[in-house]
Amino acid sequence: MLARMDVLTLLAAVLVNALLMSLALIVSVGIRVRSGLQAWQFMLFGQAAGFGLLIGATLTAPRLLATLGVMALSGSASAMTLTAGRFLGLAVPRRWLVVPPLMLGLVHVLVFSDQKVATGLTNLTIGLQITWASWLLLHGAGRVRWRWLCGVAGAANALLTLGRAALVLGWPEAYPRFIAPHPLNFAHLMLLNASLVLGTMGFLLAHRDAAEQALVRLASLDPLTGLLNRREWMGRASRALGTAGEMPVLLMLDLDHFKGINDERGHPVGDEVLKLAGEVLRGELRASDLVGRYGGEEFCLLLRHCEPGAFGRLDMRLHQALRRRCEASLGFVADFSAGAVRLAPGEALAAAIKRADDQLYRAKHAGRGRTCCEDGVL
Ligand code: GH3
Ligand code: MG
Ligand code: MG
Repeated sequence: MLARMDVLTLLAAVLVNALLMSLALIVSVGIRVRSGLQAWQFMLFGQAAGFGLLIGATLTAPRLLATLGVMALSGSASAMTLTAGRFLGLAVPRRWLVVPPLMLGLVHVLVFSDQKVATGLTNLTIGLQITWASWLLLHGAGRVRWRWLCGVAGAANALLTLGRAALVLGWPEAYPRFIAPHPLNFAHLMLLNASLVLGTMGFLLAHRDAAEQALVRLASLDPLTGLLNRREWMGRASRALGTAGEMPVLLMLDLDHFKGINDERGHPVGDEVLKLAGEVLRGELRASDLVGRYGGEEFCLLLRHCEPGAFGRLDMRLHQALRRRCEASLGFVADFSAGAVRLAPGEALAAAIKRADDQLYRAKHAGRGRTCCEDGVL
C-alpha cells in the first residue's frame, strides 16, 4: 500500500489540513482571541507555510526557499511552545522563541551545500523545540485531559524528528530524501498530520476549559474586591459548617461612615477603600478561612480553628491593618465595626448571621471602630 502512495500528495494533504484547521479556528473563535489559541493558529500557519516552501524548494531556488521553509517550521515549533505556555499560565521568554528560527535560518543558508549537516541540524533544532513544548505540557500542573492529548502528540512528533536527525547524521546513506517514497517519510507525515489534528482538538479543549473557568470566576467572585460574592460565600460557608467538627467564629464587618467617604471624596475613592479592605482581609486571613463581600460595604468571615485568644489578636490586626493601609494609600483613616459569634453545633448559617448582625449593631451604637463579641468568642 505504501508503494502506491506518494510523498508530495501526502505533504500537500498535511499542508491543506493545517491551513484549513487554522482557518476553521479563525472562523470559530476569531482572530483576536487572547488565549493560546492565537499562538496555535500561528503554529498551524507556520506548518503550512514551511511545507509549502519546502515543496517549492524542490522546484526552484532551493537554498532560499528551503531556508525560509525550515525557518517557518522552527517558528511554528516556537509557536507551539508559546501555546503551551499560555494555556499553562507559564511565562515563556520571548527571545527563546525567536532565537531558534533565526539561528537555524542563518546556519542553514551557510551549510546548505552539505545536505547531511543542513538536514541534521534542522531536524535536531526543531526536534528539541518540540521536545521543549511537549515537556512543558507533560510536566504542567493539574489533571487536565488536553494537557496529555497535546503533550503526547507533541512528544511523538519530537521523537520522530529527533530520530530523523540521528539517522541523517549517523547513517546518511540510509536517510531518505525529503520527497522520496520511503516508509520513514510516510510515517513522519502521517504522524505529523495526526499530531496537528490532536493538538488542535486538545488546545480547543484547553480554550473551552479556560472560558469555563472564567465564567465560574465571574459567577463566584466580586469583581471589585476579588473576594467571594455573597452567593458563593453563603454556599461555601454552609458546606463548611456541615463538615467542620469544631465551632467556627462568624465575623460580620461593616465599614464605618462609608456613605460619608463616598459623598465627601467621591465614589471612586469609596471603591478604593473597598479594594483595600478586600486586600487586608485576604492578607491577614489563613487559607482555611472563608471571606466574602456580603453586601455594599459589608464583609462576612467564617474563621475555622479559631481559639479564643487568637480571635482577639486577629481582630486587632484587621482594624490596625485597614487603618494603616488607607492612611498610607489614600491619606485618611477608614475603619470598621464588626460583630462576632461562635457557631453552636448544628446551627444554621442564617441564624448565626442574624446573631452576628446584632453584635455589629451593638458595635455601631457603642461608637464604631470596634468589634463586639458574644460570650465564647474571646
Ligand atoms: P455606618 O457607619 O453606620 O455603617 O454608616 P455608612 O455610611 O457606612 O452606612 P450606609 O449603609 O448608610 O452606607 C453604605 C454606603 O455604601 C451606601 C452605598 O452607596 C455605598 N456603597 C455600596 N456599594 C458600594 C460600592 O461598590 N462602591 C462604593 N463606592 N460605594 C458603595
Ligand atoms: Mg452597611
Ligand atoms: Mg457602613
